[in-house]
Amino acid sequence: MIMQSAKDSRSETTEGIGRAQLLDGAVIAAQIKREVALEVARLRADREIQPCLAAVRVGDDAASAVYVRNKIRACEEVGIRSEHHALPASTSATELLKLIASLNGRDDVDGILVQLPLPGGIAEDQVIDAIDPLKDIDGFHPVTVGRLSMGMPTFVPCTPAGIIELLDRYQISIAGTNACVVGRSQIVGRPMAQLLLQRDATVTICHSKTRDLASVTRQADLLVVAMGRPGFIGREHIRPGATVVDVGMNRITDEATARLLFGTEADKRLEVISKRGYTLVGDVNPAEAFEVAGYLTPVPGGVGLLTVAMLMRNTVKAAKLRRGERKVMSDEL
Ligand code: NDP
Repeated sequence: MIMQSAKDSRSETTEGIGRAQLLDGAVIAAQIKREVALEVARLRADREIQPCLAAVRVGDDAASAVYVRNKIRACEEVGIRSEHHALPASTSATELLKLIASLNGRDDVDGILVQLPLPGGIAEDQVIDAIDPLKDIDGFHPVTVGRLSMGMPTFVPCTPAGIIELLDRYQISIAGTNACVVGRSQIVGRPMAQLLLQRDATVTICHSKTRDLASVTRQADLLVVAMGRPGFIGREHIRPGATVVDVGMNRITDEATARLLFGTEADKRLEVISKRGYTLVGDVNPAEAFEVAGYLTPVPGGVGLLTVAMLMRNTVKAAKLRRGERKVMSDEL
């Protein structure tokens, strides 16, 4: 399903030049989940297949618990069966690897996700490496990463995959643009850059050693920011009219920072802080970006919701591949 063109809807909804149109992750995530739910229903009706996702979490990290809960809830929404393996922080690497081996061996489990970060003492690389690449719905296994970098069909990490869906469904063009990705992590920055390159953007990757970051990011028609630095990217980093995708998800708890970052929205955010103890902010200064960018993803309500929707899609893809429903791994459901 295609969204209304971003250009058309922008001219209808904004008050004037210099006010970004917000790209609504909730709407696109809901569309993707509806499509996944239809495909799950078809698989159940035609083949008696119900895809199954196994989520593994170790320790008591509060944010990880919320992320896993959201993923399990999304499974329920689309009809995917799920299992939640919540292990104590004292779990050893050997015990975790044993669980993964058993999930790899189970025919009824299609996708395995291990919620990161893992408690200290367990090497994440070793754990990711242990997941069967055919069940690697997060797209972090070295085989998956290698296939992606070669431009071969594979499981695409959910956050960058969701960003491409968002841009496509708002009909924001990628080919030929100057795209800049700030951040080079394995889960966001690097795969994002690969996908943009595959879509014929001219891609620059920035990181903490980049000199004069603003002079580089200001060249970008499409700026994707995944730094983990609350509100870092400001007016001076953004080319007027650029599309800015804010991947960051940072908790802020104090009034001064909220006032600084949210401008006229600050009062609403202060209410959230007093209710919940924190509010979420991305890596982009929302008030400044709103004034300069052409299109902007909000936080919350932007990229985060798409990540979960794409995880659902990858789980269905895994189920179809493993059960012979399809021969090749393509991007379609
Ligand atoms: P990482 O900490 O793994 O990577 C951060 C990257 O930002 C690094 O490459 C680092 O450079 C770079 N960086 C940090 N400071 C600067 C700076 N001053 N100038 C330029 N580059 C800088 O983070 P993740 O990629 O895992 O996550 C990034 C953000 O996205 C976080 O806020 C996270 O919570 C959020 N996130 C959101 C998701 C969602 O679904 N919305 C999913 C995943 C993450 P270097 O490599 O040199 O250290």
